[in-house]
Amino acid sequence: MTVNLEVMNFPLFINGQWVPSVTGDTFDVKNPATGDVIAKVAKGNEADVNAAVQAAKTAFENEEWTNMKPKDRAQLLNTISHLIVANAEELAYLEVISSGGTVRRVSSSDILQMADLFQTMAKIVVDYPFSETLPIPPFPGPSQNFVWREPIGVCAAITPWNMPMLIATWKIAPALATGNTIVIKPASFTPLTTLKLAEIISQVVPPGVINVVTGSGKEVGEPLANHPDVDKIAFTGSTEVGRNIMSMASHTIKNTTLELGGKSPNILLDDANLDLALPGSLFGVFLHSGQLCESGTRLFVPDQLHDQVVEGLVTLTKQLKLGNPLDQTTDVGPVISKQQKDTILSYIESGLSEGATLVCGGKAVAVEGCEGGHFIEPTIFTNVTNDMKIAQEEIFGPVLSIIRYSDINDAIKQANDTIYGLAAGVWTEDVNKAYKVAKQLRAGVVWINDWHMLRNDAPFGGYKQSGIGREMGKQSLDAYTQLKHVHSSMVSDLKNRSWYQILFSNLN
Ligand code: NAP
Repeated sequence: MTVNLEVMNFPLFINGQWVPSVTGDTFDVKNPATGDVIAKVAKGNEADVNAAVQAAKTAFENEEWTNMKPKDRAQLLNTISHLIVANAEELAYLEVISSGGTVRRVSSSDILQMADLFQTMAKIVVDYPFSETLPIPPFPGPSQNFVWREPIGVCAAITPWNMPMLIATWKIAPALATGNTIVIKPASFTPLTTLKLAEIISQVVPPGVINVVTGSGKEVGEPLANHPDVDKIAFTGSTEVGRNIMSMASHTIKNTTLELGGKSPNILLDDANLDLALPGSLFGVFLHSGQLCESGTRLFVPDQLHDQVVEGLVTLTKQLKLGNPLDQTTDVGPVISKQQKDTILSYIESGLSEGATLVCGGKAVAVEGCEGGHFIEPTIFTNVTNDMKIAQEEIFGPVLSIIRYSDINDAIKQANDTIYGLAAGVWTEDVNKAYKVAKQLRAGVVWINDWHMLRNDAPFGGYKQSGIGREMGKQSLDAYTQLKHVHSSMVSDLKNRSWYQILFSNLN
């Protein structure tokens, strides 16, 4: 990929057009691998939010959009999928230089998942039960009854910086598939690809259906979460901010879905195939420098395998190459910012001070050619107990905690001893044992002998404080529709409307 050294400019995207923010202010977006400013982006505020919500509200009043037939909507979603593929190179480049995700991951996995998501939604929408007919009731009199699923209205999406482009599509695709309109506030570290996606998608949807307002959580996120004309809020981010969003949304009783943090347990059983389980567990925790909500950050290892497992993991981890994410040979890129790097380092300090043993990594490192970047060595701690801070709090960096267990009940008990419940995993050659463990793990997704494998036709979301609601799968369409029961009486003469006699004693 060629590197563009020019600083780009991105206005807001409202009502199908690029517009400056009301104040004309901008903020800098930096490449986390180099520290270089790569873009100046419009700094929105409440006035910009109001304009975007008004555009989305007006677009929602257009019945051609809200009442589009499922087969026409499917065609539109397929077209968006093709447009993503046609723009893949630019999208991937912008995502790599702003989020620090490696080009090997972004240009293959992320782009494919996004294109497939719109195609999957296109397939689901055709058979989705937008209208269901209930059986004619025998009592008190015949009627026709329908359950309709209708779009919710103006949806606000607030998204994080770790996989900004993919996560934005998890909200855009079901919102458009069901006839809603959307205003997106991307994370301030990574707004570029969401803006670009909006421009691409606006080629095939009416103006105002998709809008993006960039700016801070305080100045853009809060006005969106509080806005009386926003009917639904879909938030992905930290549990802490999620709590605030839920509280703000409660003032206007907004339909709310939350995809929040995780501290996912990964249980290695004594019969696990270590040739798979060791690289698999590292794939589960070090992909994207550990900045994935579903990362398997707590590895539970049986006493008898402990030393062998630790030795194998350390050997494999030392082979990982840190580098510029634009380089095809880079395995692990930077973390998003200096602030995130410092947070991760302070967690590493806390692990040491609580008595865990550092067996690998643990330091910030300089990468040649990326001296202004924020790199941290993939880090492994042993002798971690589940009550330590590094085992309970989400670090969101490349840090693995290895925790011993005595028997499987002990492992499950410790695995579930967390406020989170996003993902979990188990490695074993015994499929019956695997399902039994999967059943007992309190998490929204459980991987058996694998990690990170999400499907666009399967729901994703958290138990406990990892969230409310599900994204992807047909369940994501449920999350962007509301139900209406329509009753049409088939009893046309008054004397047979016996139920009116509940009020009138002598109606006939
Ligand atoms: P974050 O700090 O919670 O921010 C997420 C989004 O919320 C950003 O757009 C942020 O804007 C905005 N925001 C911040 N304060 C706000 C406020 N008071 N009102 C409204 N919006 C506000 O999370 P992050 O650091 O970007 O992302 C990492 C977190 O996301 C981790 O906890 C991770 O587990 C979670 N995550 C969860 C999933 C999932 O599917 N469950 C997926 C990915 C990430 P600014 O950028 O302007 O601050």
